[in-house]
Amino acid sequence: EAAINRIAAGEVVERPASAVKELVENALDAGARRIEVAQAEGGKTLIRVTDDGHGIAAAELPLAVARHATSKIDGSDLLDITSYGFRGEALASMGAVGRLTISSRVAGSEAAEITVTGGRLGEVRPAALRRGTVVELRDLFRATPARLKFLRSDRAETQAIGDVVRRLAMAEPFVSFTLADVSGGEERLSFRADAETGDLFDALHGRLTRVLGAEFTKNALRIEAEREGLRLTGYAALPTYSRGAAVAQHFFVNGRPVKDRMLLGALRAAYMDVLPSGRYPAAALYIDCDPARVDVNVHPAKTEVRFRDPGVARGLIVSALRHALAGAGH
Ligand code: ADP
Ligand code: MG
Repeated sequence: EAAINRIAAGEVVERPASAVKELVENALDAGARRIEVAQAEGGKTLIRVTDDGHGIAAAELPLAVARHATSKIDGSDLLDITSYGFRGEALASMGAVGRLTISSRVAGSEAAEITVTGGRLGEVRPAALRRGTVVELRDLFRATPARLKFLRSDRAETQAIGDVVRRLAMAEPFVSFTLADVSGGEERLSFRADAETGDLFDALHGRLTRVLGAEFTKNALRIEAEREGLRLTGYAALPTYSRGAAVAQHFFVNGRPVKDRMLLGALRAAYMDVLPSGRYPAAALYIDCDPARVDVNVHPAKTEVRFRDPGVARGLIVSALRHALAGAGH
């Protein structure tokens, strides 16, 4: 019942960027290697996510857009989650607050599509698609002017969508991402997965260079440490790169972008003696551990985490970063 409450708390789709997040996460769950995001007018009139993942069978399309039909949780395994999706309500929510069309193709079958408008399911129809899935969400909140009014300017919503794509691109350095504004705006992102070696640090370095800039990676120390079953990898910038704002403090737990005070506190603590006051450290840090040791479902949007033993995570970050900084003469 605690699980139900936790999940019921909060809406899945509160703005275009949250829809983009859910759709891109679905594509990642489907094993996509290339994900293309298109949006118009800050995502208010159009969001389209195209992937090359395993697709949805025609017969399953109505199920995919039905609330909770696909929820992978049964209360017992809430803490043991390895894919992004688990509530089975993102697509249903989008179909309720906009016009949602899903076209998909499973290898060896014909492509099919379904449209949901204001919660009403249309028929499953044949579609033209070579592979993967295309999800289009049009006119988000048009039927609910109160929520439409709550959205910010096209520019601000575009920025928020860009942030979501950047964060997920950092989380998945082996996947290619593009983001285009088809209503003529300038926001355009392209992150290619170009690590031929398959080496994680190569891929990460390339991806962080593209997302955070060459100035970041040029000044970044490679971090690799382990403590009591928690693995820490990533890059942390030299104090000389530090900024007057916390613009580049990124954490990922078991592949998932998270925001967490404890992790931020550990990062600040590691740099405490080497940074002038008013300066913020910059880092992209990835913690991997047994999913049972971390609860990622504190918040429905899944950006908060709770470690079973926060002291271990904190100690790991502080000691690994201090060690790396000391090694670089700081
Ligand atoms: P959840 O991800 O929590 O299961 P969603 O509403 O986001 O719920 O998606 C419902 C289901 O639709 C997923 O569980 C998955 O089976 C299917 N699905 C959604 N998007 C895709 C996609 N891009 N590729 C393949 N299957 C998808
Ligand atoms: Mg999902």
